[in-house]
Amino acid sequence: MARVFNFSAGPAMMPEEVLKIAAGEMLDYQNTGTSVMEMSHRSNAFIAIANDAEKLLRELMDIPQNYKVLFLQGGASTQFAMVPLNLMGENGKADYVNTGMWSKKAISEAKKYGAVKVVATSDDKNFNYIPKVTKDMFDPQAAYVHITTNNTIFGTRFRELPDTGNVPLVADMSSNILSEVYDVSRFGIIYAGAQKNIGPAGVTVVIIREDLLGRELPVTPTMLGYKVHAENESMYNTPPCYSLYMAKLVFEWLKGKGGVKAIQKINEDKAAVLYNFLDNSRLFKGTVETRFRSLMNIPFVLPAEELNSAFIKQATSAGFINLKGHRSVGGMRASIYNAMPVEGVNKLVEFMKEFEKRNG
Ligand SMILES: *Cc1c(COP(=O)(O)O)cnc(C)c1O
Repeated sequence: MARVFNFSAGPAMMPEEVLKIAAGEMLDYQNTGTSVMEMSHRSNAFIAIANDAEKLLRELMDIPQNYKVLFLQGGASTQFAMVPLNLMGENGKADYVNTGMWSKKAISEAKKYGAVKVVATSDDKNFNYIPKVTKDMFDPQAAYVHITTNNTIFGTRFRELPDTGNVPLVADMSSNILSEVYDVSRFGIIYAGAQKNIGPAGVTVVIIREDLLGRELPVTPTMLGYKVHAENESMYNTPPCYSLYMAKLVFEWLKGKGGVKAIQKINEDKAAVLYNFLDNSRLFKGTVETRFRSLMNIPFVLPAEELNSAFIKQATSAGFINLKGHRSVGGMRASIYNAMPVEGVNKLVEFMKEFEKRNG
């Protein structure tokens, strides 16, 4: 079967070039006579892969020297616990901004370890906007402020980072890391599960400012302390070797595309194709307030439930898969991460135009 355009929210499409390289190296990685999957994580060949992955990510995101890059396991969901376990110790309280389901999960996990204050929320409008947050809303004594930079389910993103003063800003960047330029020095911690914009599931990227290491609560399990992973170069135990190798290939691919600034431009143009169509369509409608629209996840609806299901069914047969929206929004959602080619969005919009003609 020909490859389809996969609009899944995650695990998501990977660059075809990367999959081809991995396929070519599957049985014999660079004359080692083994697959990367079979290598010791202490072997020179694998250590080179891990070092390259870190070096490339540092380069792509322009990560300052006083930040550690960790490649962990457990997904972003484990970070929901790791962040409070490692940072709450200081004064037992943290501020959160609630912008959707992933924020909510982060909040309920953090409540197990300390006092959580939700300083702002957009739940009054089913999270279709980003609430305004100003510096005076944050507790200057809070251990950290937590935000979700891009809301995968609701299709919103922060256009400006909140000013938190001296309080470290912690960001769940799972669904838009490497899609647009961020100034890493604005953050205390950035974390992201890999399966949206980095590579296969299994590896979680954590970028942490060094002064935040070593503050974990005494009950913190060894595996959930940042410091132990930092001191062991993410090799305290066996890392997710193959996922990390794939992430390295994606980083190389992205560098070849011109890096984050270049992909941001592509992403903006790519998202605009779909948003422009939605804004002018008589039938399809975007669900998010214009100024908070995500570049990565675009939810939209048709005026009747039968039309939504007919559209999803017909799109699937035409090779546009995984367009069904999350149940909390309904309708459709097109996730168009870095690896989605512009052609995929152009063709989807053509297909939507045809659908509109047939059903308008
Ligand atoms: C997908 C996602 C998660 C959950 O990631 P896991 O790696 O499955 O734990 C958390 N936050 C955001 C913003 C996501 O998009």
